[in-house]
Amino acid sequence: MRRQLPEATSAAYTIEPIKFVDLLAQRRRLGDGIDKAIWRVLEHGHFILGPEVEELEALLATCCGARYAVSCASGTDALLLALLAWETGPGDAVFVPSFTFAATAEVVALVGATPVFCDVLEDSFNLDPVSLDAAICSAEEAGLSPTGVIAVDLFGQPADYHILTSTAARKGMWVLSDAAQSFGAQRYGGSVGTFGDATATSFYPAKPLSCYGDGGAIFTSDPDLAVRLRSLRAHGEGSERYEHLRVGINGRLDTIQAAVLIQKLTIFEEEIEARQRIAHRYHAGLARLVSVPRVSMGARSAWAQYAIRIKNRESVATTLLAEGIPTAVHYPKSLHEQPAYQDFPVAPTGLSVSTALSDSLLCLPMHPYLSETSQSYIISRLRQAVERS
Ligand SMILES: *Cc1c(COP(=O)(O)O)cnc(C)c1O
Repeated sequence: MRRQLPEATSAAYTIEPIKFVDLLAQRRRLGDGIDKAIWRVLEHGHFILGPEVEELEALLATCCGARYAVSCASGTDALLLALLAWETGPGDAVFVPSFTFAATAEVVALVGATPVFCDVLEDSFNLDPVSLDAAICSAEEAGLSPTGVIAVDLFGQPADYHILTSTAARKGMWVLSDAAQSFGAQRYGGSVGTFGDATATSFYPAKPLSCYGDGGAIFTSDPDLAVRLRSLRAHGEGSERYEHLRVGINGRLDTIQAAVLIQKLTIFEEEIEARQRIAHRYHAGLARLVSVPRVSMGARSAWAQYAIRIKNRESVATTLLAEGIPTAVHYPKSLHEQPAYQDFPVAPTGLSVSTALSDSLLCLPMHPYLSETSQSYIISRLRQAVERS
């Protein structure tokens, strides 16, 4: 499908179909590098914890400046492994934002602890420290023991770790960074992977650094934690095979996925820079029209998503789709409104921002290969759709 651009230019021109995320363009750019890397794994046959896994872990740690990187089977397992390593369980309150993907709270419930939902900030969409304070008080009153905070770097922007870690430290709580969407981002002169006590990321295909299936990693500067995580991802294995020191899971990253990630890492920094340019162009074209995302001073977002806030979201999205522009809603419901999570405690001050965001955010196409022409088209069509709605 090719479309005519609407602008009244004398030479009418056409553009390529617009994708929400374009993994094929990335594969074309890498030539046969990925195919060859997968082929090498097929030839050596070490499909589980093969040499590429260790190589990738070293590259990931160097890339973000973390001391240890432990790869695993998914972003969800990355979060779960951290909770298992800290022996989080019944009676423990773990504070999470309500406006996030289900996995953030799911792992807390899975280990038998209690997720306590907090509200998020209107401008960054990240955990609101005031809501967190209130939630800690009410969890204590309810007889729970405040144990940890999972801060989510929603849509790619790091949360405010300075405030969140000092709140956590006052209560002796750990901070786990859910960086599923933010690997490659920066704040306070450091990179994602170095904030909090541990960082969990995901290599799911739609994330900024992705593989061809499920994958994830945990970063930490704590050597004992790194040892426990390695053991837990392989059934709690000790230094010898069939020696099980703890109850773990099968949470290893496939060697083939590690091989894919090694190739993709070679262009990752350039891709993150391309995302900055694209976010800039959206900002320049849309800031006067709709509410656009704001990046905190000194921070660099990984721009997993570019989310605008609008009224009449459904009609605007329908109009855009008819014009060949795919959009997405992250997330149509906050977790405290979901059937699986509605009975868990919430911050006593309410979750009005989470609810408002779930009713009004719309994510636009965002990937490093989005052309300037496509973006101009998206901006002009969005302008028309908003003005008409
Ligand atoms: C994607 C995502 C996860 C889970 O990652 P998977 O690799 O899909 O298991 C966790 N938290 C957030 C915020 C996510 O966006």
